[in-house]
Amino acid sequence: MMLEHLHIGHAGIERTLRRARTTLFWPGLSNDVCNLVSSCPECLTYKNSNPKEPLTPHSVPDYPWQTVATDLFHWDDKEYLVIVDYYCRYFEVCHLNSTTSKSVIKQMKSVFSRFGIPEKVVSDNGPQYSSSDFTKFSSDYGFMHTTSSPRYPQSNGLAERTVQTIKRIFQKAKDSKSDPYLGLLEYRNTPIDNSGYSPAELLQGRQLRSILPILPSQLTPKVMDHSRARSIMQANKDRTTKVYNRSSHILPPLKEGEIARFQQDSRIWKPCQIISRLNDKSYAIKTPNGTTFRRNRRHLTKSNEEFHSNLHSAPNILIMPTVAQYPHPPPRSKHSLSQHQ
Ligand SMILES: [Zn+2]
Repeated sequence: MMLEHLHIGHAGIERTLRRARTTLFWPGLSNDVCNLVSSCPECLTYKNSNPKEPLTPHSVPDYPWQTVATDLFHWDDKEYLVIVDYYCRYFEVCHLNSTTSKSVIKQMKSVFSRFGIPEKVVSDNGPQYSSSDFTKFSSDYGFMHTTSSPRYPQSNGLAERTVQTIKRIFQKAKDSKSDPYLGLLEYRNTPIDNSGYSPAELLQGRQLRSILPILPSQLTPKVMDHSRARSIMQANKDRTTKVYNRSSHILPPLKEGEIARFQQDSRIWKPCQIISRLNDKSYAIKTPNGTTFRRNRRHLTKSNEEFHSNLHSAPNILIMPTVAQYPHPPPRSKHSLSQHQ
């Protein structure tokens, strides 16, 4: 009873403990407070979002156009395809007449005919990329295709960032009634970092002639100091990862059958149960009304609700099925899961 009085203002674990220490103490107090707060429905519902998880450092590819990321985006009532190089961030953007897998493949073939076939193509799990046509395309053209967890921005970060860059170029050109293609050309001629090299130079060995004045010598192909450029790129990458990871936190894995809460389109945490772990970061979950979702670990938080003594009497708590009701985990096929993530 004392415990519930302590938590009357729904303060978090730390604050509730601080308050407890000013009034009373009993052995196991901090455990009791932890259990109470982590099973309190109101506190769980409005709990802070999870901290971002650390990024795995990636190494810069060995040569230009070895690994590319691709994505689709929508801008000004039109659909576009973007393909961007992990090495020099050179990108190609194509207008799509349709967003079918066939149409995406046709544009990618056209780009690959100009820059060569990359060894590896990274995309999300969009239907254009998960089709059997795309699988055939990757085997016919001899590249490896890797997909990231759906709708988890960090996993296809380069493509997402490039989409933002392109949208900015398009929007500014539209607002100022200038030519978007000249905007794209300037991007390709602008040094990507303090190595001083532009995407065009790193990919094609020379600057591209634009409407800005340029020395003829810059238009002649030359050998770039790629080892220097690579080490600068790697150092920048490591620095960015380090800064990002400073405010990140590894989230412990969740187990099958565990009661948890998940976030969907808002910061509100809703009840769910873990069905299975799909990969490092993704989980199949089930809501009390039986809907299954795929969620990233970042949008899941463990709850102790099943151990809450008030569970069955509290009016706004959903009674979750217990682990014992799932002797056999449901099938793990991704196709049976909703794409909302
Ligand atoms: Zn509470």
